[in-house]
Amino acid sequence: MQYLPVFLDLRDRPVLLAGGGAVAARKLQALLRAGARVRVVAPAIDAAVVAQATPAGVELWRRAFEPADVDGAWLVIAATDDAAVNAAVAAAAGARGIWVNVVDDGAASSCLMPAIIDRSPVIVAVGTGGASPTLARRVRAAIEAALPERLGALAALAGRWRERARRALPDSAARRRFWEQVFDGAIGRRVAAGAAGDELMPAAIASAAAAGPTAPASGEVWLIGAGPGDPELLTLRALQLLQRADVVLYDRLVPEAIVERARRDAERVFVGKESGRHRTTQEHINGLLLEYAGRGLRVARLKGGDPFVFGRGGEEIAVLARAGIPVTVVPGITAALGAAASTGLSLTQRHVAQAVCFVTVMGEAAEALDWRALATPLQTVVFYMGVAELARITGRLCAHGAPPERPAMLVERATLPGQRVICGNLSDIAARGAAAGIAAPALLIVGDAARPARRAEIFAVVGLADGGNTGRDDSV
Ligand code: SAH
Repeated sequence: MQYLPVFLDLRDRPVLLAGGGAVAARKLQALLRAGARVRVVAPAIDAAVVAQATPAGVELWRRAFEPADVDGAWLVIAATDDAAVNAAVAAAAGARGIWVNVVDDGAASSCLMPAIIDRSPVIVAVGTGGASPTLARRVRAAIEAALPERLGALAALAGRWRERARRALPDSAARRRFWEQVFDGAIGRRVAAGAAGDELMPAAIASAAAAGPTAPASGEVWLIGAGPGDPELLTLRALQLLQRADVVLYDRLVPEAIVERARRDAERVFVGKESGRHRTTQEHINGLLLEYAGRGLRVARLKGGDPFVFGRGGEEIAVLARAGIPVTVVPGITAALGAAASTGLSLTQRHVAQAVCFVTVMGEAAEALDWRALATPLQTVVFYMGVAELARITGRLCAHGAPPERPAMLVERATLPGQRVICGNLSDIAARGAAAGIAAPALLIVGDAARPARRAEIFAVVGLADGGNTGRDDSV
């Protein structure tokens, strides 16, 4: 992080603005909104600047910049169209230890002006470290779309009652829950509808206080599918719950970039399983879930892909249900669907694949699988957790009637940076995978739908190759 975002209180503080043109006029507008006492210095000052300056009592110095002009300023902005003058302004400010922004020149600046969304008192600032103001504006637009229209009013309400709520609810977890109820519940809806909301606050605070300081009444667990890896493939609900959770328990398959989307002060607990120690570790995880939820916390249990596809989600739910802890399941995009989308493989296709099967050969029950059924044509069979067993899987399929030339494909780290795809058929995919050093997490996909020519057609039609996929696929 090269820049530390901060919010400056500029009310009644002197700010020097060098420049008198259109750019300076825009900067002046922002500075005046923040209540700064602005001095403008420029040999020529446009009407657009003067028009704002006169009612606001801005000092206008119609002359060339001099280094001593920055004396006493808390912030300096160089907005002239003359690079030499801008450099002189930056040098004068730098020499006196005053923050300076040179418009459109990050390298010459000691601070950058972000793109802002102003729903005062809520202010969102977006920066790209000077890399791309256009991108910053896009990010701003995306955030703006997600913010409720009356956000400012809601924040103002919270500000008015914050101190009283703090005194009535000394326990910080209880207080956070109280505020979330305010924002998500009847009061939030009233504010959204245009009311101030204050009239409902005394009763809401009193009832939260009566519930007791610790009020651990309702711990709960959200079993959340985190998708195949790409953070953009999280569901909206997964994201919303992640931002409300007190604790996040996450698996090895869940990348850091997703865990980081949790609330900043949420506790993060890595519960990645060591292979070969599943039993004990699963018990340990169950214990942690019970313990955290028992303390009244909201627990996000993040699992790779979908919780109900080889995720042992059922076992965790059973344990929680026995303890009377409410559980919500949020589906995620399972690895097979992520891999299909990122490699242009349509899992079903008319006349090619009429069924899809997700299967694992892990565990004792693999022996009892119906291999004859798995070997039949007109289906796409996706093997999870199979990379260590490739030769055994393909050998069995062939032994039960699958032709050795049936297409087979390996997808490693689907949807993640560095995704790799290896193509072949049942007779050679195990050797190809071994030669390429394919390792978990990877899927083996067997069936005619995996034929490279079919996938190439899909790529050509929907333009997946530059459709935002992170992985490369050299086979197509
Ligand atoms: N619940 C998960 C599966 C967990 S089992 C889901 O729905 O996807 C773990 C196996 O999932 C891995 O061994 C691998 O076979 C597969 N897997 C998970 N993420 C993957 C990815 N990004 N690319 C390829 N395979 C993946």
